[in-house]
Amino acid sequence: CFMVKLSIKEHRICVCVRKRPLNRKELSLKDLDVITIPSKDVVMVHEPKQKVDLTRYLENQTFRFDYAFDDSTTNEMVYRFTARPLVETIFERGMATCFAYGQTGSGKTHTMGGDFSGKNQDCSKGIYALAARDVFLMLKKPTYKKLDLQVYATFFEIYSGKVLDLLNRKAKLRVLEDGKQQVQVVGLQEHEVRSTEDVLRLIKVGNGYRMSGQTSANAHSSRSHAVFQVILRRKGNLYGKFSLVDLAGNERGADTVSSNRQTRLEGAEINKSLLALKECIRALGRNKPHTPFRASKLTQVLRDSFIGENSRTCMIATISPGMASCDNTLNTLRYANRAR
Ligand code: ADP
Ligand code: MG
Repeated sequence: CFMVKLSIKEHRICVCVRKRPLNRKELSLKDLDVITIPSKDVVMVHEPKQKVDLTRYLENQTFRFDYAFDDSTTNEMVYRFTARPLVETIFERGMATCFAYGQTGSGKTHTMGGDFSGKNQDCSKGIYALAARDVFLMLKKPTYKKLDLQVYATFFEIYSGKVLDLLNRKAKLRVLEDGKQQVQVVGLQEHEVRSTEDVLRLIKVGNGYRMSGQTSANAHSSRSHAVFQVILRRKGNLYGKFSLVDLAGNERGADTVSSNRQTRLEGAEINKSLLALKECIRALGRNKPHTPFRASKLTQVLRDSFIGENSRTCMIATISPGMASCDNTLNTLRYANRAR
């Protein structure tokens, strides 16, 4: 009995870490790699292997996760071990969520949405697109073909507690909870999609709205959570739902002492939502009857996904390899460790 319980728990929650390579800027600033992935489920934070005069002492620390991906891992590989199994879940009438959590610049959007550097936008290699591709492959299987399922996509962001539709010119949406604790995002547009190409087009549209009005590349998107959903319906009724979330930069949650009031408030809101998210994932993993989903807008709109027999979650914690980022990296690793 104990073994059965354990395996259910391990199945419901998967937490993994992805290390990205040192980027050009870090290399030019002579930042040094302090992260090693010695095996497929271990992350080590340590002093740089090069002999340098350190301004601080970095204690060796080891963390264990379901998976640890080193800097040579492709999106396709990360996908295979994280979101891929959750595609099955929604075909079994389940609710699935996959989160990218980490510091701004650590690779969340690269992992989820694909590459968006300047004019070169390739969203075909991100987890959003890979999951969509497999949804359409699954639909072709005889077992599912006969169910006559329809596929819809939504894309919205949560910014400072407000929900904005990224597929409808950032329309501001209200969130309502009815007497049966069902949460509704009123007016959120669900777009029917019939192919991966349809999905790619929507990702581009939504991403365009996500980036619009930004003063710098990461200014706004680092402070908002982006939620991309693939919804299966059968005769109009909800059948399964996959929510893929590119979370706000977790360093923003610490932005509570800024001299700018707006920045402080946003920081507090982000901090609140990331803490609530961790608690909801923990509750799901422990099969707890009470899920504190009302604690933030993010967890409220994802309520369905944290409750119910057939809900599964995966968290991909993205980390930067450099010494200069190690405080944020340690925060990310501790958070991910606690979510399990
Ligand atoms: P975030 O969304 O967490 O702020 P991004 O995904 O925008 O971070 O990544 C920052 C930069 O690093 C981007 O230019 C991205 O292409 C690059 N990058 C992130 N992860 C990887 C990776 N695993 N391999 C190569 N480049 C990466
Ligand atoms: Mg990003």
